[in-house]
Amino acid sequence: MDRVSGRSGDRVALHAIIGGSHRIIEGSHLLVALGKTPNTNGIGLECAGVELTSSGYVSVNDRLETTAPAVWAMGDCAGSPAFTHMAFDDFRIVRDNLRGRKRSTTGRQVPFCLFIEPELARVGLNEVDAKRQGVDYRLTELPISSILRTRTTGETRGKLKALIGEDDRILGFTALGPRAGELLPPVQIAMRTGLSYHAIEELIVAHPTYAEGLVSLFSNIKPPLERHGTINA
Ligand SMILES: Cc1cc2nc3c(=O)[nH]c(=O)nc-3n(C[C@H](O)[C@H](O)[C@H](O)COP(=O)(O)OP(=O)(O)OC[C@H]3O[C@@H](n4cnc5c(N)ncnc54)[C@H](O)[C@@H]3O)c2cc1C
Repeated sequence: MDRVSGRSGDRVALHAIIGGSHRIIEGSHLLVALGKTPNTNGIGLECAGVELTSSGYVSVNDRLETTAPAVWAMGDCAGSPAFTHMAFDDFRIVRDNLRGRKRSTTGRQVPFCLFIEPELARVGLNEVDAKRQGVDYRLTELPISSILRTRTTGETRGKLKALIGEDDRILGFTALGPRAGELLPPVQIAMRTGLSYHAIEELIVAHPTYAEGLVSLFSNIKPPLERHGTINA
């Protein structure tokens, strides 16, 4: 970013150098999100033998055990993805481990929803992630306006998007649209249990609901040879 002109709440222009060329991005508001730092300094954790990471988070292993015996850390302070639902899952992991189970944070899903207008929700890989990781995928997309429910509500902005792997499993799902966050759980269950996308494609979903869009989205998968991923990209 080069400079900002105007006044947030009225009219702002962001002057930036993107890809070597000067661009001006205009809007009404400017939200500056600088991140958070853990509040772990000066509370005597070192006296208890609880070590911190170089970023100041409580250092934990995949069972959320700290470096001190019988001391556990959960949520934001433990450096978990900074969402309420992840802090809650940390609690469940610690609770279950205290009960003698062997639960870990490794490989767990991190769904999220941004409550903008319309909502933006995602779980798993998006295209940028897949390309960066060299994962082959097929892409399916559906404009929100294709979901018949939107004819009754008039909320037609947005789209659904999913990445499908070689084995027909769902690698990632993104929804931008009304109640987008509510569309995540059926896809999450399919991803978590290793179901193919056909499991959702073949569901009978009540009409007219937003979830009908999932059936349309997964009925629209291109044949395996028409990939968008790294091999033919
Ligand atoms: C503006 C904002 C919006 C957000 N929106 C969302 C959202 O829409 N969805 C979502 O999933 N997540 C959201 N988050 C993130 C979410 O709030 C956190 O990830 C979540 O609260 C983490 O839970 P936690 O229990 O780890 O920490 P916290 O909820 O922060 O709880 C930590 C508690 O410890 C207390 N505490 C701190 N230091 C001490 C001390 N020395 N001694 C005693 N007590 C102490 C604090 O006062 C606090 O009560 C948002 C965060 C912010 C800041």
